[in-house]
Amino acid sequence: MAILVSVQMAKPCPYNMDKNKRNIKMYGYCIGYTFGVKYVLEVPMNEERDRFLTELMGQCWHDYDTDKPINTYSLEAYICKKCKGFILGNNDFSQEEDFIRLYNWAKGQEKLKQILKDFSEQDLFDREKGAHFREKFASNIYAFFNEKKGRV
Ligand SMILES: [Zn+2]
Repeated sequence: MAILVSVQMAKPCPYNMDKNKRNIKMYGYCIGYTFGVKYVLEVPMNEERDRFLTELMGQCWHDYDTDKPINTYSLEAYICKKCKGFILGNNDFSQEEDFIRLYNWAKGQEKLKQILKDFSEQDLFDREKGAHFREKFASNIYAFFNEKKGRV
């Protein structure tokens, strides 16, 4: 999920924003200036991880204009420029409905057996603590594949 916001020019570009709403740090990427107002695309820090995992699962990391939604009855939907799909947004694996796809995929991966053992289904889908465990689960898988590539 990316949010377009405008801010005053005072801050250097790019800058880091600390939005602790859901305990996710937001990064601001400057995308231009208009009449002295800087436009920043805010991206949660874990978007890179979610993109990596989505592509690892063989799915499309959708490319779409957030400012051009197609309004349906109650939802804002988009058309992806890459797969031409009618979409609501990209995967956010801290959210339960997206996380289930990652979890089911991971269960079919022999090399992720250890990570799956470290988490219980009860914790991952717990009403209160679930979001915390889902974050950890997704980050552990991300780290597993990135360490293998020689990056940390
Ligand atoms: Zn797509």
